[in-house]
Amino acid sequence: MPNRTFTIIKPDSVRKGNFGKIISRLEDEGFRVLGLKKVSLSRTQAEGFYAVHRERPFFPGLVDYMTSGPVYAAALERSEAVPHLRKVMGATDPAKADAGTIRKDFGESIEQNAIHGSDSDENAKIEISFFFAESELL
Ligand code: UDP
Ligand code: MG
Repeated sequence: MPNRTFTIIKPDSVRKGNFGKIISRLEDEGFRVLGLKKVSLSRTQAEGFYAVHRERPFFPGLVDYMTSGPVYAAALERSEAVPHLRKVMGATDPAKADAGTIRKDFGESIEQNAIHGSDSDENAKIEISFFFAESELL
């Protein structure tokens, strides 16, 4: 049974022209793109999206980074969507990510790490609804 996850192709990836390469990898991994939007996050949106990290020391820098340029938000579908995306994405710190993962190949630093992926089915649902109406998922 396919289920859903959510990704953001982050500003560093878009700036460097890696959007297509990253989406291509996700398609090669069997993800179907249900919805895709290019957006410039406002500070309020970035703060809301990452609200769980509000008290962390890296939060202000994370919000600066996520508002530093446009991103692509995408709802994805696949079997085991959440754990599979976490696996192909790699560890938060690209320097510690496994070889062949998206963050290892495209990330610059623990902050500018190329891509977001939901960490649970529950958060995938919340994150998808942050950007998409159900009618926009095809
Ligand atoms: N982040 C950071 N410094 C840290 C940890 C995280 O700048 O020490 C940023 C990074 O962009 C990361 C995001 O905050 O992707 C969310 O952190 P989380 O721990 O949820 O990592 P993820 O789920 O993205 O692997
Ligand atoms: Mg996370």
